[in-house]
Amino acid sequence: MSDFAYPLHEECGVFGIYDKAGTEDVSVAVYSALYALQHRGQESCGMAVNEDGVITGHRDLGLVNEVFTPQVMASLHKPEAHMATGHVRYATAGSRVRANAQPMIVRHGRGTMALCHNGNLTNAVQLRNALENDGAIFHGSSDTEVICYLLTRNRLKHQSIEQAVAATMDQLDGAYSLVIMSATKLIAVRDPRGYRPLCIGTLPGGGYVFASESCALDAVGATYLRDIEPGEIVVADPDGLRSNREHCGKQPRQMCVFEYIYFARPDSVIEGCSVHEARMQAGRFLAQEHPVEADVVIGVPDSGLDAALGYAEASGIPYGIGFIKNKYIGRTFIQGNQKQRENSVRIKLNVIASTVRDKRVVLIDDSIVRGTTSARIIKLLRDAGAKEVHFRVSAPPFKYPCYFGTDIPDQKMLVATGRSVDQINEIIGADTLGYLSTEHVVQLAKGAGCGFCTACFTGEYAVKPEVVLSTDIHDRPLRQRPKGEKKLGE
Ligand code: SF4
Repeated sequence: MSDFAYPLHEECGVFGIYDKAGTEDVSVAVYSALYALQHRGQESCGMAVNEDGVITGHRDLGLVNEVFTPQVMASLHKPEAHMATGHVRYATAGSRVRANAQPMIVRHGRGTMALCHNGNLTNAVQLRNALENDGAIFHGSSDTEVICYLLTRNRLKHQSIEQAVAATMDQLDGAYSLVIMSATKLIAVRDPRGYRPLCIGTLPGGGYVFASESCALDAVGATYLRDIEPGEIVVADPDGLRSNREHCGKQPRQMCVFEYIYFARPDSVIEGCSVHEARMQAGRFLAQEHPVEADVVIGVPDSGLDAALGYAEASGIPYGIGFIKNKYIGRTFIQGNQKQRENSVRIKLNVIASTVRDKRVVLIDDSIVRGTTSARIIKLLRDAGAKEVHFRVSAPPFKYPCYFGTDIPDQKMLVATGRSVDQINEIIGADTLGYLSTEHVVQLAKGAGCGFCTACFTGEYAVKPEVVLSTDIHDRPLRQRPKGEKKLGE
């Protein structure tokens, strides 16, 4: 990611385990899975454990290894627990406070449940206003609490929690991949457009896990079974695994294409397609679209590396290791003053001068956000002796906001908004600049068999909120969503 000072963020990662055989330590499994999903959210995390229908949990601000200390893990170890769920969070809807950390554990008229959510609702404000006008009291400001409220109310009207989930889906709009744990069932749900990924794995001793990415299945020794379909409700309980598809096929699929380009781990498989392979393909397409005479292809760690390999393979230009990334920089480092932000690139990345000295370099990155970090990286290469720097980006230019769970800076901070490629290149200072086309970005996940959201590149939204949920609904008045984006079909 080429903006270390203002990196893009995925909102969340979710996980759940139903251990039918009772051979797993489910709290340890959740811990391992959340570690594997840490890249999807670094602000807070939590876990809920179900022992004989009694759900207890712990959640707090911090990384997985900070929140789940040995003492906390000891308190979550329940010998008879067969089910558990966990969550890592980066806030894009709702403020960064403990009350918004997940899983949300709700005690309601029919029992207790724990709920984890990845994505953003587009009708959260309307739903929340309606609930508040009906007497509801909210503890936090996230849209997940809205889902909890609707689900528990629907539970009072329906025989089973599956029926309540289906009724709740009729009220929700936008992006939601959910893992819900009741006293006896573990339920996974994906919104009908399928914005965020969610997959199923099988446990060797019998039982199932649900996870945002397959890398979490690997972390707990589970085998990838399949992705949950957009609109599908999947239930794991003592009777096995069953599916409700009544909401499937009701909307065109809108899987976030940026999961393949940047968010997901390269060792994950999403919609049946390897993320590493998709990034390689993005590099191959880039080589076709923006060829150049050069001596070496390098990538910006981490997510530019796979695309650089693909570019090198397709172009025949040798691949080289151009940067070493410092792995020991804490997440708070970049939150200092402007000078610290400027220095952060030099401290995070160091050039291997022998790879680039006196060479014509093709530099691959996954995006340009504000442009300032890209400019500094290019300068690092020139200072190390690169003769030419040809910048290639494995995504189209970012121009529009995301309403589905990605924290994209304000449009006026995006360097591509209102500028041509030549104007952007004047700012970053490369010899040439080329972006992947939107035509190719939707083809990079071969065999995925789903449609993709590309709204932050095109401004064409399948759905968008009338009102945006403020980052803190209590601190500021709700603001109207910026106007100007096109709706699909307009
Ligand atoms: S707007 Fe962009 S980041 Fe958001 S879901 Fe769509 S493709 Fe992903």
